[in-house]
Amino acid sequence: MPIVTRFAPSPTGDLHLGHALAAYVARTMADNYGGRCYLRMEDIDTTRCRPQYMDAIVEDLAWLGISFEQEIVIQSKRFCKYAEALEKLRQLGVLYPCFCTRKEVAAEIAAMGGAPQGEQIDIYPGTCRKLTHEHRAELLQSGKPYCWRLDCRAAAKLTGPLEWIDLRFGKQLCRPELLGDVILARKDCPTSYHIAVVVDDAAQGVTHVTRGKDLFSVTGVHRTLQALLELPVPLWYHHELVCDEQGKRLAKRDKARSLREMREAGMSPADVLRLLDGFIPRENEADAL
Ligand code: GLU
Repeated sequence: MPIVTRFAPSPTGDLHLGHALAAYVARTMADNYGGRCYLRMEDIDTTRCRPQYMDAIVEDLAWLGISFEQEIVIQSKRFCKYAEALEKLRQLGVLYPCFCTRKEVAAEIAAMGGAPQGEQIDIYPGTCRKLTHEHRAELLQSGKPYCWRLDCRAAAKLTGPLEWIDLRFGKQLCRPELLGDVILARKDCPTSYHIAVVVDDAAQGVTHVTRGKDLFSVTGVHRTLQALLELPVPLWYHHELVCDEQGKRLAKRDKARSLREMREAGMSPADVLRLLDGFIPRENEADAL
């Protein structure tokens, strides 16, 4: 069956070597199986994304010689699709409004004695999940800004146990509670990365989600949303991350590693590809499982 992959950068800065790897992995995976690869601009955060970065992304990818399907999906044009998904979740009873400010969440976690050893520091303690019906209605009436959170316990009750498959790391048990009640629509943005990514992967018929290992932990949330929204379930391939000499993951602020800088310094696309040697999936690697 022909496969579909995608490269989904956020246009918040210039692409760097890590993005080049993500783009190569998506393209190679599609090529290895005679499939299609899409470019998708994940620009729902309109405060941080800039149109000039979209143009720069297209230019950098063309320079690298990585081609995509002609249609580029731009998430900021699809807010109504994400609103539909959010409404469906609301009707399922797996969302609740959260009125906490960041400061309040931090104070609550500190009051509980901090995050348990080894657990992510910013797991939301569920304050607004426990509000009484009256108190919640009062807060909604008051006009206090709120976001929508996924009630991961209610969601798990509806979905039952779930699994997902990573083509490098094997079968994974879905444990969305590890990230707690994540935000699915923010106070200042009517959707979130989690909603947009699952809605669009389904809309584009993505069969293989390739992305960096930094997003491994959110896949359980995505798998849960796919079950709740009755969307097809893709396979995942989480590739290694490109790090600097100190072992720190490259970020957009690492100007020296931007593809633009490399190009201006006289490097060729082949030089960039050589730096990524060993990271790109081998042919048939995804067949190993
Ligand atoms: N937009 C995300 C990023 O730039 C990638 C999302 C994904 O591949 O699922 O990190």
